[in-house]
Amino acid sequence: MNIEELRKLINYHSELYYTHDTPEIDDFEYDKLMRELKRMEAENPELITPDSPTQRVGGKILEGFEKVTHAVKMESLNDVFDKEEVLDFGRKTEENLGEKAEYVTELKIDGLSVSLEYKDGYFFRGSTRGDGVVGEDVTENLKTIRTIPLKLNEKVDIEVRGEVFMPHESFIKLNEEQEALELKPFKNPRNAAAGSLRQLDSSVAAQRKLDIYVFNIQVTDNKDLKTHKEALDYLAYLGFKTIPVKNVFNTIEEAFSEVERIGENRANLDFDIDGAVIKVNSLRQREMLGSTEKCPKWAVAYKYPPEEKETKLIDIVIQVGRTGVLTPNAVLESVRLAGTTVSRATLHNEDFIREKDIRIGDTVIVRKAGDIIPEVVGVVKEKRSGNEKEYEMPAACPVCGAKVYREEGEAAIRCTSGECPAQLTRNIIHFASRDAMDIEGLGPAVVTKLLEEGLIKSSSDLYSLTTDDISALDKMGEKSADNLIKAIEKSRENDLSKLIFALGIRHVGSRNAKILASHFETLDALMNANVEEIAAVNEIGNVIAESIVQFFSEPQNIDIVNKLREKGVNFECREKSKGGIFEGKTFVLTGTLPTYTRSDAAKLIEERGGKVSSSVSKKTDYVLAGSEAGSKLTKAQDLGVIIISEEEFNSML
Ligand code: NAD
Repeated sequence: MNIEELRKLINYHSELYYTHDTPEIDDFEYDKLMRELKRMEAENPELITPDSPTQRVGGKILEGFEKVTHAVKMESLNDVFDKEEVLDFGRKTEENLGEKAEYVTELKIDGLSVSLEYKDGYFFRGSTRGDGVVGEDVTENLKTIRTIPLKLNEKVDIEVRGEVFMPHESFIKLNEEQEALELKPFKNPRNAAAGSLRQLDSSVAAQRKLDIYVFNIQVTDNKDLKTHKEALDYLAYLGFKTIPVKNVFNTIEEAFSEVERIGENRANLDFDIDGAVIKVNSLRQREMLGSTEKCPKWAVAYKYPPEEKETKLIDIVIQVGRTGVLTPNAVLESVRLAGTTVSRATLHNEDFIREKDIRIGDTVIVRKAGDIIPEVVGVVKEKRSGNEKEYEMPAACPVCGAKVYREEGEAAIRCTSGECPAQLTRNIIHFASRDAMDIEGLGPAVVTKLLEEGLIKSSSDLYSLTTDDISALDKMGEKSADNLIKAIEKSRENDLSKLIFALGIRHVGSRNAKILASHFETLDALMNANVEEIAAVNEIGNVIAESIVQFFSEPQNIDIVNKLREKGVNFECREKSKGGIFEGKTFVLTGTLPTYTRSDAAKLIEERGGKVSSSVSKKTDYVLAGSEAGSKLTKAQDLGVIIISEEEFNSML
């Protein structure tokens, strides 16, 4: 590959990573490409172009955010990959300074860099790094992070820099939720954090449970600070959650020993790091050393290699996820990897096994990189004996025996039964949820207990429960048991649209369920319809129609429907849908709009199925704000409700 092609390739991957948070290759592979480019440019300095990725920090700014020009450039860090390079950094630093230096070693948090600005001790603006010079204003999203103080312990003007990240626990929970909503899981916590912080709707960011470590003062009036360690102590005193720095080291060798210690312990952290940063401690020396085009000369980032090991693939087993996706998992001869014993790894899907030609009995390479779940990355074909066996995905669900189905254009194979035990907990939670049968009090904890106690085996069993059954459950009083039974009873009378949504048919969301209920009027009519008839309904496409027909062709699902009928659940449409774009959405109007009167705007909303309310609450979906908007606007900002202008409202229309 020539230098131009390599630059193009790196630019392609940087854009995916920085601007869209959807990398296609892992960081280790990216770093290798970057090293190669640096090597080529070092050999031929005349070939360096100003737009080369080696000369730039980060990525492009997304549309939709205000731009912020950073008072102090937000730099990147030079990478090093082995001890020799670290010692070399120390040697050069002290040569440049003409004196000895002290060092500190910090975790290199794998998140995304932000700057936080305070005036008189109050947080007023926060932004992403962007291209280092100009970033995106993500103040509202940053305010949702509990560890970012909105008011400091002193009335100071200060700008600090930190790394926003997603702890493992939040990441696992988020991906479970993504899975439950049938959305694509995030690849790793960094992408999830970056994607969450760059949400235009801050209520989404608020649910994502992000965290931050602050690691630098960018701008301050405080003249007393002499060292980085003192600066961190001062930040902690102001109220920031600062990056932990245990020791100040007198030599670069000692600083490197700390890098090794961090590496050995990294598996015990509850968030991802992609390295350790060694920094010169003295702020005066930092001044003297200065920066290159994109990196300070007083710090260096040591990158830990992702750990990879060879091991034997003993078997491939299928795991059926809570959404019915069949995932092939490798059963491995146990190996120690990144501090844990690994005996299982994901093989993603059928195509992955085919592409990599992975066979049972193969010697495979397992990796645990930034991602928490270990994965098989390849086969050592030279170690084949000839006895390896090719693998075929099963034709029936290994948990319940129902047919499995692969949708066109999708890699996933799914079980088609709504009664499959692997999916049961999720299905019943969905069945009871607000937009479905709306059974108040029947949340995940109660559903899990009911299943554990064997009191229910499917959603229809809910309608046979008694107050005694429920009050016998741990921590359920008589009164709440009684309320739950009443809520279950009430749900029998729900409109058909709620029932259609509650069945959990793939691709059928609550809005489609309303359209289908209005059109077909009874569940039986929908069950008897063919793909053409369903796809002929306005707004319902072929994929949805096929999914519905597929669902009702599975005997286990017919069984569910029959049981619900026996229990007296309503199968008829009682509320015809207006089918508008604002169906189910609540608006609050405030201030004077440029062209509409309030009643014009209300009419436009109501005609499209939306509701207009007079006060702002957490349940408000949009506040349509004009000039001189008062307390409703402030309340909406406090609650993180989406605020739109007339122009945005018009584009929604
Ligand atoms: P970097 O992430 O390697 O280092 C600089 C960043 O480290 C700073 O912006 C800062 O936010 C962060 N950091 C975390 N803890 C810190 C601490 N204690 N002190 C100082 N800084 C700290 O550099 P970069 O320019 O942001 O990005 C390069 C990284 O992005 C590489 O890891 C690369 O692999 C990855 N990347 C991957 C892809 C891909 O396709 N997979 C594409 C582009 C970049």
